[in-house]
Amino acid sequence: MDLRYSPEQQAFSTDVRSFTRAHLDPKVAKKVLEGARLEREDYLGWHRSLHKKGWVGVGWPTSYGGTGWDATHQHIFDEVTADEGAPILIPFGLRMVAPVIMNFGNQAQKDFHLPKILSGEHWWCQGYSEPGSGSDLSSLKMKAERSSDGTHYIVNGQKTWTTLGQHADWIFCLVRTSNEGRQQEGISFLLIDMKTPGITVRPIIMLDQEHEVNEVWFDNVKVPATNLVGEENKGWTYAKFLLSHERNGIAGVGRCKRIVKRLHHVAQQAYSNGRPLIEDARFRDKIAQAEIDLRALEITLLRVLDAEREKHAPGPEASLLKIKGSEIQQTLTELTMMAAGPAALPYVREGDNGAPDVPWLSDEAYRYASGHYFNFRKTTIYGGSNEIQRNIVTQLVLGL
Ligand SMILES: Cc1cc2nc3c(=O)[nH]c(=O)nc-3n(C[C@H](O)[C@H](O)[C@H](O)COP(=O)(O)OP(=O)(O)OC[C@H]3O[C@@H](n4cnc5c(N)ncnc54)[C@H](O)[C@@H]3O)c2cc1C
Repeated sequence: MDLRYSPEQQAFSTDVRSFTRAHLDPKVAKKVLEGARLEREDYLGWHRSLHKKGWVGVGWPTSYGGTGWDATHQHIFDEVTADEGAPILIPFGLRMVAPVIMNFGNQAQKDFHLPKILSGEHWWCQGYSEPGSGSDLSSLKMKAERSSDGTHYIVNGQKTWTTLGQHADWIFCLVRTSNEGRQQEGISFLLIDMKTPGITVRPIIMLDQEHEVNEVWFDNVKVPATNLVGEENKGWTYAKFLLSHERNGIAGVGRCKRIVKRLHHVAQQAYSNGRPLIEDARFRDKIAQAEIDLRALEITLLRVLDAEREKHAPGPEASLLKIKGSEIQQTLTELTMMAAGPAALPYVREGDNGAPDVPWLSDEAYRYASGHYFNFRKTTIYGGSNEIQRNIVTQLVLGL
């Protein structure tokens, strides 16, 4: 098997790199490369530049304004933009609710929402989990009652762990519309404008002291019945379809390659027994193993993306990507912590230049090491915990 890129793919890679260098704000790239926190505008500035170029709808069909790229081109785009320090494209609209609207939404929903997702005008968040309903998602309780004239729903309840909900214009929610039959059969999929009266967003502060997730409360929120996707009580089907798209995106191969580069850099700066840590055979082995795992994940990702184009939806194999991708991300943050050693102790938040006095570590590569380490504990939990993914692989991929 020849794993090298063809001349056409190499030319595409060069194009993507030139475009990124010309249009990505260097201040944003610096933040990303150092691992600093990004603001809403940092994400959106890059999103808008890509939109002008027609490169936002990666994985979308061309009929909806997508790039129509094959698996390899998608991967090259991800790898090169990540390497240059581009922020991720926030997935909740582009990679999660958009495929649901394309496949199960009506024409009015497609016409209204898809262009605004593509342009970045609407930032979406995900309202699936509730207190007590995470892995056991179908037990969710947030209630949507249809009005007697059928024109709207009244929504009451709470969602939790809502990532970047503080920035969102819209939220897609799983709601309970019936208590009859199996619990999966009483769930519906609603699109809700975050400006609707009765919605309150409350921050949850994470281990790294950052505001990344939220509780979202709904108190008699009036939602037009036209915001229902597909059929009432059939939401579980759409919810599962969306989850496989979410898991595909979590692999983060491009980002991992960038973290590997930073790890090499830190290991060259750091000293162990009077020598650069990178010369320590045991530590070098650990980096090599992580890189081998990453290479294997990359090939698996290409296979899954390719199969997805045939089937028009990711299969349960997306769970494999989620498990391996999240584990590799955690390993890389652990190795970076080990390499930084005592320099990782003072976690320096963005904007705070109080660098500790550690002579053998002369640059800023260590600054976010502990913040990342703590933050990345999340990766094996979100998007459906890895234990649940292993159950899916056992049943649906291995057929056991
Ligand atoms: C940082 C972060 C961001 C998130 N963002 C969002 C978001 O934007 N929107 C959203 O809707 N949700 C979000 N989530 C929620 C996430 O999807 C849930 O946390 C996840 O599904 C696990 O659910 P839980 O936290 O309720 O844990 P639980 O379901 O209570 O699980 C607790 C433990 O038990 C294990 N377990 C449970 N059931 C089984 C089983 N059957 N077999 C084996 N082990 C099992 C789990 O693996 C886990 O280790 C986010 C979570 C985090 C941490």
